[in-house]
Amino acid sequence: MTTRWMTTLLGFLLGVGFAFVGGPVLAAVDCNNPGLADADQDGLSNAEECNGLVADGVSASITIGSCRDTPQPCLDPDKKDLFIVVIKSTANPFGTSALDEPAHAVALTDLFEPMRRGIAAGGLDMQTHVLTSSPSLPQCTRCITPDQAATVISENRTERANSCPSDPPRWGEASWGNPNEGGAAIVYSQRILDGIECFVNGLPSPGAVNADQLKRDQLVNTFNHEAAHLIRLAEQDDRKVGHHYPLGASCIADVSPVYEVNRKGVVTIVLGQDFCGPSQTMISAGATADGSGALCGDFSDQDFDPPSRPKFDCLPVN
Ligand SMILES: [Zn+2]
Repeated sequence: MTTRWMTTLLGFLLGVGFAFVGGPVLAAVDCNNPGLADADQDGLSNAEECNGLVADGVSASITIGSCRDTPQPCLDPDKKDLFIVVIKSTANPFGTSALDEPAHAVALTDLFEPMRRGIAAGGLDMQTHVLTSSPSLPQCTRCITPDQAATVISENRTERANSCPSDPPRWGEASWGNPNEGGAAIVYSQRILDGIECFVNGLPSPGAVNADQLKRDQLVNTFNHEAAHLIRLAEQDDRKVGHHYPLGASCIADVSPVYEVNRKGVVTIVLGQDFCGPSQTMISAGATADGSGALCGDFSDQDFDPPSRPKFDCLPVN
């Protein structure tokens, strides 16, 4: 028997078809003279990241210091800081978020660990900041500053499968673009738990697999996968798989994780836990090949740049 679980995680696809050719090597920011440029190309100026940031929002405010003089969590002027608002589902038939169930719980501070990991360790070397509500500035409802928005990932846990479908519903969905372009995603957590349950129960020896660990790993995989769409990873728009890597590439941005059992009962779980080369290269460069910012607007659009921010600037939130 062969069981192949394929989730379709396609967002709104935009065409980008150029190969990346190389990125700037950036010196560490001098916080004694930070200036208003944005050396790490994350939409926050060097000054904001050296001095710390207070976002006084309409519905919430955040205060976050600079890593130069404040322990984690902090803003790092030399790493891309990404703000991710995670809206857990609690008003559901289970009464709790899938992320909070002890058997497969994931703390919000650990959820985006793959993005925080260094490049050599399969990560993106980013600073992630998980918020549970948006500061909601007057300029936009999910802005961290007037120039930079957070991404939003909402958990949906309202469905429970009463059978194991041969064609499981998608586990997540996201738009593709940078945070300032309206990035929002959904993770269908109960579908993930049900899907893993179906897979494990269908195995010749269900007890041989740690189902809870698999559920936790898949929750982490899917949250990071959807977040990847919100920062323009897998920038190529493949004819078959869109902004994904093919089945079995074992990357977080794969079109689907693959859970498979062959005729001999050998279990294959291809669950990407790492980010892969092209996406890592792109995030290090801060932009796609056409100059579209990974975390912010099109900083190659020099028409926009004010003289005070001559390089690596971001278009404001629209
Ligand atoms: Zn996807």
